[in-house]
Amino acid sequence: MIDLKRNSKKKPILATGLRTKSSSSYNPNQKQDFKISRGKFSNFLTCKRCFYLDRVKGFDVPGTPSWTLNETTDFLLKKEFDYCRKKQIPHRLLIENDLNHIVPFDHPDIDNWRDSLHRGLILKYKNTNIILTGGVDDIWQDTVSKKLIIVDYKSQAKNGSIDSKEYLEDPYHEAYKIQMDFYAYLLSGMGFEVDKYSYFLVCNARREDREFNKKMNFDEYLIPYKWSIDWIEDKLNEMVLLMNKDKIPASNQSCKNCAYSDQYARLIFKNLSE
Ligand code: SF4
Repeated sequence: MIDLKRNSKKKPILATGLRTKSSSSYNPNQKQDFKISRGKFSNFLTCKRCFYLDRVKGFDVPGTPSWTLNETTDFLLKKEFDYCRKKQIPHRLLIENDLNHIVPFDHPDIDNWRDSLHRGLILKYKNTNIILTGGVDDIWQDTVSKKLIIVDYKSQAKNGSIDSKEYLEDPYHEAYKIQMDFYAYLLSGMGFEVDKYSYFLVCNARREDREFNKKMNFDEYLIPYKWSIDWIEDKLNEMVLLMNKDKIPASNQSCKNCAYSDQYARLIFKNLSE
């Protein structure tokens, strides 16, 4: 996708390919704390080279447009769940799914935990200077066991109904499960007892509707997912090791962006040298 660098007045400006804020890059073996978000950890799992160029070398990675329709479903759901949080009652979706014993978790930090840009769940990784962060969509509580339940809202548009097994086995949803595992790791590390089941609250827009007429209808699904955190520390150790090295790691050979850059460099440099 084409991403033009713009100033605060939205005017296109010169793109250098590097970020200007030096504190947003990690210097191998630095002593100061450095934040790694859930999204950056996911990038590490997908492509070590891109993660390294971004976090250590300060490359300014092209962005993607914000998903405003998805964000709107999240925003409206948040309002519904906040209403129930205040009253400590189960949300209609929980009642429909025979989960009347679950209510939105009422905690003074809930807004910070949901702020993925500035706060999120925060955990210092063992004896390193790496601070792990991750902004959750919501946290519920089982009123019987008192355990916390991690919730992630997902919006999509797919014909027909959604089957939980298919949803979780879809290779495109692999990253969703990693996301949930990471939140479970953070929340457990922060000292909370976390229920072994988390939930994807999936809002599926009905493409079968006859017309738009200023309205998009959705079906809602609660998809339980049994998280697993056994694998996370091995990967985090690998990540910290990589950040403290001065060597650029291998790329992901399936990445179309790198293949594009490669073709671009070959063609342009060939033409320039002729
Ligand atoms: S393979 Fe893709 S993700 Fe990795 S460095 Fe290249 S562009 Fe980035």
